[in-house]
Amino acid sequence: MLNIDEIKNGIVIDHIKAGQGIRIFNWLGLGKAPYTVAFVVNANSKQMGKKDIIKIDNTIAINFNILGLIDPNITVNIIENEKITEKIKLQLPETVEDVLICKNPRCITSTEKYVPHIFHLENPELRTYRCEYCDEIKSAGDFRE
Ligand SMILES: [Zn+2]
Repeated sequence: MLNIDEIKNGIVIDHIKAGQGIRIFNWLGLGKAPYTVAFVVNANSKQMGKKDIIKIDNTIAINFNILGLIDPNITVNIIENEKITEKIKLQLPETVEDVLICKNPRCITSTEKYVPHIFHLENPELRTYRCEYCDEIKSAGDFRE
């Protein structure tokens, strides 16, 4: 396993639900990355039993809203000069824009293409979102990748 010590400046995405790591790996396009990436699946975790971890030896921009939609229990460690300088606890975003797409044909977003698809968190337990305009409910997992 790549130790955090081996990352000089980069990002560690930790506490990913086992089996979900590949989705994040692909979403971030890490298969084509020109820098070192360690992708650990089924690591032992005291809290979770098993977890996935992605260690990226580069500072890349990550949309934490989308990462929070994928899995709000993820933690992100920012590494600078081989030390953790920031721990980011993700959460389900209250509002997302053009991430979840409303499919209701009667919704204004279907008839007026310039209208952004805005969804608000409806139920954090169920991870559901409600369309700003037509009240259509979508699951957080339905985001556009
Ligand atoms: Zn709608």
